[in-house]
Amino acid sequence: MFLRRTSPARAASVALLLLLCGLAPPGASAQRARRQAPPDRPRTRSENPREVNTPPRVGGVPSPREVLGFTPGDDRKLADWTQIRNYFDRLDRESERVVVHQIGTTTLGRPLVVAFVSAPENIRDLEKYKDIQRRLADPRLVRSDAERDRLIMDGKAVVAVSCSIHSTEVVGSQMSMQLAYELAAARDGATLEVLRNTILLLIPSANPDGNEIVADWYRKTLGTPFEGTEPPELYHHYAGHDNNRDWFMLNLRETRAITRLFWKEWFPHVVYDVHQQGQTGSRFFIPPFHDPPNPHLAPLLLREVGTVGHRVASDLQAAGFRGVITNALYDMWWHGGFRTAPYFHNSVGILSEAASADLMTPVQIKPEELQRASSRGMPTALPKHPTINFPDPWPGGPWRPRDIRDMELVAARAVLSHASEGRARLLRNFYEFGRRALDYPPADSRDPVAYVIPAGQGRDENLSKMVGALVEQGVEVQRMDTELHLSHTSRDARDAHETPSGSYLVFLAQPYRTNVQALFERQVYPDRRTASGEAERPYDVAGWTLPMQMGLEVLPVVGIREPERERRLTPVRSEDDVRRDLGLAPRRGDASPVRNPLARPVRLALYKSWTASMDEGWTRFVFDTFNVPYTSLRDREVRAGNLRRKFDVIVLPSMRAREIVEGRASERAPAEFAGGITEAGVEHLRRFVEEGGTLVCFDASTELAVKRFRLPVRNVLEGLKSSDFYGPGSILRVVVDTAHPVARGMAREADAYFIQSQAFEAEEREGVRVVARYAGKDEVLRSGWLLGPQHLAGRAALVEVELGRGRVILFGFRPQHRGQTWGTFPFIFNALSR
Ligand SMILES: [Zn+2]
Repeated sequence: MFLRRTSPARAASVALLLLLCGLAPPGASAQRARRQAPPDRPRTRSENPREVNTPPRVGGVPSPREVLGFTPGDDRKLADWTQIRNYFDRLDRESERVVVHQIGTTTLGRPLVVAFVSAPENIRDLEKYKDIQRRLADPRLVRSDAERDRLIMDGKAVVAVSCSIHSTEVVGSQMSMQLAYELAAARDGATLEVLRNTILLLIPSANPDGNEIVADWYRKTLGTPFEGTEPPELYHHYAGHDNNRDWFMLNLRETRAITRLFWKEWFPHVVYDVHQQGQTGSRFFIPPFHDPPNPHLAPLLLREVGTVGHRVASDLQAAGFRGVITNALYDMWWHGGFRTAPYFHNSVGILSEAASADLMTPVQIKPEELQRASSRGMPTALPKHPTINFPDPWPGGPWRPRDIRDMELVAARAVLSHASEGRARLLRNFYEFGRRALDYPPADSRDPVAYVIPAGQGRDENLSKMVGALVEQGVEVQRMDTELHLSHTSRDARDAHETPSGSYLVFLAQPYRTNVQALFERQVYPDRRTASGEAERPYDVAGWTLPMQMGLEVLPVVGIREPERERRLTPVRSEDDVRRDLGLAPRRGDASPVRNPLARPVRLALYKSWTASMDEGWTRFVFDTFNVPYTSLRDREVRAGNLRRKFDVIVLPSMRAREIVEGRASERAPAEFAGGITEAGVEHLRRFVEEGGTLVCFDASTELAVKRFRLPVRNVLEGLKSSDFYGPGSILRVVVDTAHPVARGMAREADAYFIQSQAFEAEEREGVRVVARYAGKDEVLRSGWLLGPQHLAGRAALVEVELGRGRVILFGFRPQHRGQTWGTFPFIFNALSR
């Protein structure tokens, strides 16, 4: 979810949205203390229909309890990454059904691991099954129908289960140990059959750094008034919650390692991503998802996703669990999440969202506290009448980590049983998705056969990053070693234009064709409204077209004059190939090879709040990627003042003024982390500018400078209702004053990321300069959804305002959104070295 909003008029829906996916709404802490359930109240069988299966030690397999001293899911017990790894190492050594591989290291240097769980004979033959998967994933490697049938007969259903990518959604990682144990120790016929038919790739934590951060914080605060609160830092070093928004961009080490495992090596048929949501909604969400679907998804794939989900829901119901919802909240439009990337790799991706406790602390939810507001697919959390998608609402009561664990265990077992029983069908469908992707375009259509990224655009780092990311996720890209004549509009060779050698071609006839389409085409989000005419908010962003974000020209190729035998094309195998082709510095180890682009050195500070802003993290990521040195600026230092003596430039990431000024509420954090920059800090920032400093504000933080410094600028979007104006993550066109120093190196038109961002009316006067404006209302939307474009058309998008001897640079849009918008990074670097 993306969560930063700007308009107070939309505050109500924000509060609702904050309930999703593990983030507590503001003020939830006030209810927390009274919600926490007594620690040792005995449970009745009806409250906990599934007893944890703890068979006696079998074949030398130790239970988590034997190793950890507690059962995963016990109240107030949280295993950290060292303990979890230690447990999986024991299984690796002591069970023939489990082998653990390290697949990479995390951002902070910890090992990232996957446990393969299957029958011993499968575990001994993993290479054979990996080879079968590789062939089924690419039907060009299968020579005949007979070979296909043999591969399907011999192959295993490959299922991936990944836990707690969102580290405060903490129970999944704990559950993973119990799941592995139950599978390793089982002696019953049903489980043995599942183990024979499936290979489970179990990722105990997709974000081990976060697991440690949360475990440390939880232990530190256990027994204090802050028990169960969120830590005062991002649980992924750069991305925080957005670590699950990185699955086509591959900015993060964790995403890259898992992408390689999944989409270059093992091609899982089903990917199950285990999450938690807020406390007061349904107890458990499972697909089918809500509308709208991405138009590139095969209808059969949509059905398969629904089929797995219904199986899980049905098994949960059979086990006596209440409060399971389907067809709600989470949609299938967006690309970029753990469970959405599989769709663009011909696989079934699902997630579950269990209601949260306070980390590992149980809570008590009264019926009247259950969510009353209507959300997509759910009128309330306790409706008067059951519905088909929510037939058995939960009435409130105690809610414990073990309730979450038990639902997740049943869900994971249901996914495995489903894959085991439908093994051959899953494999056949998977192969067919790939085969149909290759059979493209239809002979009589004018659909493109390829996309071309023409050489000579002068943005070589952008090109290297984009092609590198595509290749890393299994997309086939080829370098043109000679010029070719390409037609962009028709199959007619006479329309063809000469395209230089060194350009890159991405053909659509490849197994991951839908991935290419979903990344290269512009998104046209359907105009969806609620009954009252308000915009119905998408689950995540509405538009993400990759070349637009990267600021690269990419053209469709409808025809190629040269016949195939005359084309000289070299497949690109890695980003290194591209860097070599373009003469860029080679990548050495983990250090970023990108040159610092600042025109002159500056003493740069980036404001870092204890509220843990994802936008701050992504800004840091961009600075680190471009080797731009900076200092993190904490509230204490802002409050102390004298900023100009230390810094030339201060950057405020996208945060509301109130969040910056007030920080974390004192009832939500120990004193050292509570409070923001305060009014004194606002005054120090103003003095910093007046004394010659440059203050750079991204998106929401412009509010602080505009209002507190009384700049001659106004956000014209403030207060508009979502029935009038709405832009939930879209790419917009801006028109640039290329003469302005902040626009150095930019073209007259650029694509900028807008996510409920700002548009300014700026007084034309001495000391106020508009660097970029939103384009006219018919041209401004490039990709995504924009309701009411006339409200921002022609308004200022990027403004420089002089104040005293310094200046404030106001970015209305989000120039560094999720580290993806390379096309607008030059604005940032110019602003810093102005
Ligand atoms: Zn989540």
